[in-house]
Amino acid sequence: MKKDIRALSKDQLRTFFVENGDKAFRGNQVYEWLWNKSIHNFEDMTNISKSTREMLDAHFVINHIEVDSMQRSNDGTIKNAIKLHDGKIVESVLIPTETRTTACVSSQVGCSFDCKFCATARLKRMRNLNADEIYDQVVAIDKQSKHYHNRKLTNIVFMGMGEPLMNYNNVIKSIEKITSSEGLGMASRRITVSTSGVPKMIRKMADDQVKFNLAVSLHSAIDEVRTKIMPFNARFPLVELKEALEYWYAKTKRAITYEYVVWNGINDRKIDVDALVKYCKYVPCKVNLIEYNPIDDGEFQQASQNALNLYISNLEMHDISVTVRRSRGKDIDAACGQLANKS
Ligand code: SF4
Repeated sequence: MKKDIRALSKDQLRTFFVENGDKAFRGNQVYEWLWNKSIHNFEDMTNISKSTREMLDAHFVINHIEVDSMQRSNDGTIKNAIKLHDGKIVESVLIPTETRTTACVSSQVGCSFDCKFCATARLKRMRNLNADEIYDQVVAIDKQSKHYHNRKLTNIVFMGMGEPLMNYNNVIKSIEKITSSEGLGMASRRITVSTSGVPKMIRKMADDQVKFNLAVSLHSAIDEVRTKIMPFNARFPLVELKEALEYWYAKTKRAITYEYVVWNGINDRKIDVDALVKYCKYVPCKVNLIEYNPIDDGEFQQASQNALNLYISNLEMHDISVTVRRSRGKDIDAACGQLANKS
């Protein structure tokens, strides 16, 4: 079986050419075609000789994604169903605002976690995405951004399908490509990895001195409530998450963003607000209150404006920065928590 050439690092490509009687430099040229120019056929490598292209074709394939279908929301959001080389489908979303265009990308096919409010959880985890499959989503959305909004992609969030820290190595490799001058050359500070909170992996990221931003989907600072809506919290309780976040801050000196949805009858009480305020004291942070988009069963409903106001006033009273994020692309099921291959 032929190997996917994009699984090779630049050094491995250079070695391959040397071992096959060519110059190491050829590896750099091929690497640039694969990543900077994102070509999908060896014959498109126009500065490589025909015989070399044939040799590459005999050894390798170039696995790549395809935009299988695309839906455009009336607010400019675009949701893509992305077909992977093995036919599996993930979703990624382009979210335009006045000042930025953000790509929300998937890191796994389905998800092994079982958050009760999340449409992706119903798909169960099928497999991790490779680094190139994550990178290709970003490239595809960057093209759409230029085509439909006349500007380059400005930000990336790992907030699509899957838990990025359960596919850590490939997520890191994809970010290396996204930020490299041989890839898209984007600044790390424009990238946010959003996790449901895997303490061991947060510590690892801190040790690895990653340069991107960290967001945690918190949704409750009370174990009993959080475990009900995010059952893995029983394995990784809030105190462990807190300790990991303290470790992160001590090592990186970078604040955390807590993503937080307020649901009717679930986390809309004063004790929920007080618990969040207390949790926010542990590590410098800001809170994004996210508008919820009901998935079909109706168990989770967005809380009232009064409940949101209670959160906002209490957080502000304690000098904790808080923003309310309106969801985009609701009409095409592209909003947070709605990605479930329905299109
Ligand atoms: S919210 Fe994130 S971690 Fe939880 S099930 Fe959905 S995709 Fe997985």
